[in-house]
Amino acid sequence: MSMRALYQEVILDHNRKPRNFGALEKANRRAEGENPLCGDNYTVYALVDDQGVIEEVKFEGQGCAISKAAASMMTVRIKGKSIEEAQELVQGFRHMLTGELEGGEKELLGHLTVFEGVAQRPERVKCAVLPWHALLAALEGGEKASTEGEHDVWHEE
Ligand code: ZN
Repeated sequence: MSMRALYQEVILDHNRKPRNFGALEKANRRAEGENPLCGDNYTVYALVDDQGVIEEVKFEGQGCAISKAAASMMTVRIKGKSIEEAQELVQGFRHMLTGELEGGEKELLGHLTVFEGVAQRPERVKCAVLPWHALLAALEGGEKASTEGEHDVWHEE
């Protein structure tokens, strides 16, 4: 299967059956993420234990197929990881979509590299990266992440 066909299948599958979709009542971290340019809006919930391990992660909200599939795959990938590992994945994912992958990041991302082709479509990059920014905001104690305006995390480093 070509990378493009795989990408389309993964997006369709996760969009139809998003994993870890819904509110997480016992969450101790949460943040909202929005991409007003596309209308994507999600809340990411996480339950982080005393050791800084992400025990549970869920998301809810609505948006385009790319953003929903990205959020779904993110939750699958992030569960059981430490905050530090999650931060590395966020950075790697962002680097992939801006064409700035550094050594080892591709291996780190693994299956998430199915989104690599999104880098060729700049108008969709924010859709794919939005859930990751919401996750980052949640883990770092923020409440809101946006691809635009005053809560813009896109240009932050
Ligand atoms: Zn979108």
